[in-house]
Amino acid sequence: MKLFVTGGAGYIGSHCVLRLLQEGHEVVIFDNFSEGSRETVRTLSELKFPGRLADVVQGDLLHPEDLQRALSDDSFDAVFHFAALTRVKESVQHPELYYCHNVVGTLNLLEAMRSFDVKRLVFSSTASVYGEPQYTPIDEKHPLNPINPYGRSKQMAEMIIQDFDRAYGIRSVCLRYFNVVGASSLGCLGDRRVIVTHLIPSIIHAILGISKAFSVFGTDYPTRDGTCIRDYIPIEDLVDAHIRALTFLSEGNRTEIFNLGTEQGYTVQEVLTVCERVLGKKIPVILESRRSGDPAVLIAASKRANEALNWHSQQLLEEAIRLAYAWEQKKMSMSL
Ligand code: UDP
Repeated sequence: MKLFVTGGAGYIGSHCVLRLLQEGHEVVIFDNFSEGSRETVRTLSELKFPGRLADVVQGDLLHPEDLQRALSDDSFDAVFHFAALTRVKESVQHPELYYCHNVVGTLNLLEAMRSFDVKRLVFSSTASVYGEPQYTPIDEKHPLNPINPYGRSKQMAEMIIQDFDRAYGIRSVCLRYFNVVGASSLGCLGDRRVIVTHLIPSIIHAILGISKAFSVFGTDYPTRDGTCIRDYIPIEDLVDAHIRALTFLSEGNRTEIFNLGTEQGYTVQEVLTVCERVLGKKIPVILESRRSGDPAVLIAASKRANEALNWHSQQLLEEAIRLAYAWEQKKMSMSL
């Protein structure tokens, strides 16, 4: 198939492109390179797979003419839409950026898909659309009540996507990610984002001496050890769900929404312990107060994706941590 991937030079997008090429598809990457990396694109273009990286278009979702140019060249079977701003804190400080890029950007993409008659979309959404959970594990029926502009922007994008199905028959699968972790098992791709805020990369930075210590944000949550519980989904398993979503749409199924998680929760303290055991390193830790906007527990119920996509997360957290660590070490050696 011929596939159009927005944000294909970013962390999750690039792992999906890699898998699509492995599966023999032809891929066009559309990226504005604000977060995405040219190095990542170079890596992808050098790998020898049955599929083909047909083109890399530097373009912006906020410039409809860029989308028209990129989509007019070929007839695409489907679009994967990863391009988005994803920092919760930044979204509180600059909500306009999030409504522009994540909402207007998605609308522009849908408009371009409509003009070129592209009828299938796989969309990157987030567990942030649920807000503070009323119950866990969280299933897709859980009420949506996002507590920051990032989550609200993704909810709005989902609503527009549903409307484009009703009005124009664009069939979609919205995938609501829980906490995505790890790196490619081939060792060639990983998270290249310069600003590190997520748990496992922050722990690894403390181990590698890039930061002085790892800060635990909050030890007084109502959990088994006082630290927050999250559901950590390895990136290659997450990508696998995207491939299955494409098949699901190609088989003519209706528009759907799926949570993607492992259904297993780890506290921050437990993740630290696993990292120390797996990597054989002692991690310098500072106990800090809570970070604002962090719910105590976020665990996915993924039954719907298990059943409809025949998808299950398979990689162990230990392996995802090993891959993330190997990737951070490689990044460090490349920058020397
Ligand atoms: N966390 C932490 N220290 C860090 C980064 C994260 O204690 O340096 C905690 C954070 O408070 C949350 C969990 O780890 O409970 C996962 O945070 P992350 O930023 O990775 O993902 P989020 O759940 O916010 O999307």
